[in-house]
Amino acid sequence: MAKSTKKIALLGNPNSGKTALFNILTGLNQKVSNYPGVTVEQTFGMAKFETTMVQVHDLPGTYSLVPESQDEVIVSQEIIKWVQEESAPDCIVSIVDSTNLERNLYLTSQLTDLGIPIVIALNMTDLAREKQLEVDGSKIKKSLGVSSVVPISARLNEGIDLLKKNIVNACRETQPNASFFPIPEPVLSAIKPLRIWVQDRYQLSDELSNSFAIRIATNGKVEGLDQPNLDMIEQVQSDLKRIGFSHEILEPTLRYSWLDQAIPKAEIPIKQKSRSEKIDELITHPWGGPIIFISLLTFIFQAIFSWASGPMNFIDESIADVGNWVGTILPSSLFSDLIVEGIIGGAGAILIFLPQILILVFFLTLLEDSGYMARVAIMMDKAMTKVGLHGRSVLPLMSGYACAIPGIMATRTIDSWKERLVTILVLPLMSCSARLPVYVLMIGAFIPDIPVLGIFGLQGLTMILMYFLGTVTALILALVFSRWIKKEKKTSFIMELPPYRVPLMRSVFHQVFSRGKLFVTDAGKIIMAISIVLWFLASFPKIETSDGNKQSIHTSYAAKIGKTIEPMIKPLGFDWKIGLGIVTSFAAREVVVSTLATIYNVENGEENIMSLTDAMKRDKDPITGKNIFTPLVALSLMVFYVYAAQCMATFAIVKRETNTWKWPVFMVIYMTVLAYVGSLIVYQGGLALGFS
Ligand code: GDP
Ligand code: MG
Repeated sequence: MAKSTKKIALLGNPNSGKTALFNILTGLNQKVSNYPGVTVEQTFGMAKFETTMVQVHDLPGTYSLVPESQDEVIVSQEIIKWVQEESAPDCIVSIVDSTNLERNLYLTSQLTDLGIPIVIALNMTDLAREKQLEVDGSKIKKSLGVSSVVPISARLNEGIDLLKKNIVNACRETQPNASFFPIPEPVLSAIKPLRIWVQDRYQLSDELSNSFAIRIATNGKVEGLDQPNLDMIEQVQSDLKRIGFSHEILEPTLRYSWLDQAIPKAEIPIKQKSRSEKIDELITHPWGGPIIFISLLTFIFQAIFSWASGPMNFIDESIADVGNWVGTILPSSLFSDLIVEGIIGGAGAILIFLPQILILVFFLTLLEDSGYMARVAIMMDKAMTKVGLHGRSVLPLMSGYACAIPGIMATRTIDSWKERLVTILVLPLMSCSARLPVYVLMIGAFIPDIPVLGIFGLQGLTMILMYFLGTVTALILALVFSRWIKKEKKTSFIMELPPYRVPLMRSVFHQVFSRGKLFVTDAGKIIMAISIVLWFLASFPKIETSDGNKQSIHTSYAAKIGKTIEPMIKPLGFDWKIGLGIVTSFAAREVVVSTLATIYNVENGEENIMSLTDAMKRDKDPITGKNIFTPLVALSLMVFYVYAAQCMATFAIVKRETNTWKWPVFMVIYMTVLAYVGSLIVYQGGLALGFS
């Protein structure tokens, strides 16, 4: 980074418009990454304000520097780094929702202690105007002593130039003279031991040391700082009690009473409130609410299914065309094989997910930004908490029926890490559309088309049973996992609902773009690597066979693995050919169908599925002479695919979203065990009952 580049940090309450402003300031010039070791995301963007290069850091939304959630812990820790080390930004932009001044300025007042220049971006001025709220920026500037206060509207793109100018000016300030919230004399002397402790240990200014001392007295600690010994804290707390201050609410009491005096009260006209309340009454109605939610869900689910299929076919065909074309221009060689089957094939495996991801992220961002998701979370929370999940788990889980990848990406709206992790871990059990080809092949070939109870068909029932099996298992395991995964402090559910807002389309499309990009770049790498490994396993060793065919999947490493694991999968009713299919279908479940087609040497063509079915039905065990595939084997194989973690893209996305290899590996292990045991029970149980 050039030396003249300024660093600025965006801080604000959730929903204050931080992301909207960040997008305006930096455009598409952004880089999303995770904080080291945790799943919380941070975004950096570069921008040029007039002639100054600026690096903008978007921090997670937070209500205060006393953290409640994992996101907020990150912010508090980051700020401790700023006061201890050199990494401090040149200027903080504090984004404040001007329709909710007091609560937003609470955070700002904590920031003014830090001794870093602050520019307040008074956002949502369009809404304030609409509500006829008078917001006096100059009064706020004077009271808080910040560098400047700039009214803006991220929606209407108003005030942005002035904001940029003021940010550049603030970055040059060396002696910020922010006001400090007044501390009554008796409180000052009560907290003195803590202040001295902080000062000795960290060499901070009087003001900041006092502020930390008050936070320690209030909460027992400051996130990211060492803790003084308990006796000292308790002594201070009892001294405070003696002078009539209850320590639990010391910091909020002092700051709010200061803000009360310093900030002109804004009055909210009654009319506005009741409109939002009326909408809420409908949306969270005991039975109207769920009906609306389920209708929306059905619509979104349907959209993922139907809108995505066109683009997915297009991507599929285009990739095949590109592969064929490259195949014709490159001389036939190992290298061209690698390019066409390994790399271009791998790219196809990545891009094929984009339509579903983009559609789901689009709807989800709409629901989130409009304020609807917060209502759903509250409405569904009770039911979902019973199985250890979160109100916001419902939508990701349901979209898992289409595909686990966008579903897992959608879990990021769940703010509790534990509930998010549990949702991610069980989500791949929802029967996704990649399992359909497996079900269709097996049911079509081996489940007789006979009516059951007059109205149902056995084939259809079998299909429903598979979906049911996956879903019920997911809910049961959610309960198990949530008991077992380390409990985090239950966050106090902030009951204040965000106001309804018309989502900013620019923001929504931005989010869709950045999610898509993240998937292709981050998860894409892993998918590509696995795809190349699988290509290698299926195409080597190169052996010259008698019919001049250079290579055959029957002699490949993948087949060797299939044969090696045959004794292990025999109790499930599977032979080495199915074993080979299981190996190659780690790429994606539906690959098992094409692998079986290749093994049985089925020609490409119209009757592809039919001839594969016939070949499978004819296949006999060379030793016993019995059929390889029976209805029982088909059932066992379907149950295997209900549970097995056969999807490299899921693996990759779980790595990306949990920021560690631990969880994807755990997921593959638990799902494989489940698949094995499930199939074992079906096959052995079936045999015991006399089916064969
Ligand atoms: P964040 O949680 O702080 O990142 O907030 P977002 O940028 O996601 O904004 C929250 C909601 O407020 C979104 O629906 C935005 O479209 C909307 N929003 C942001 N800025 C403004 C604004 O200046 N005026 C209005 N009316 N809405 C805004
Ligand atoms: Mg945001």
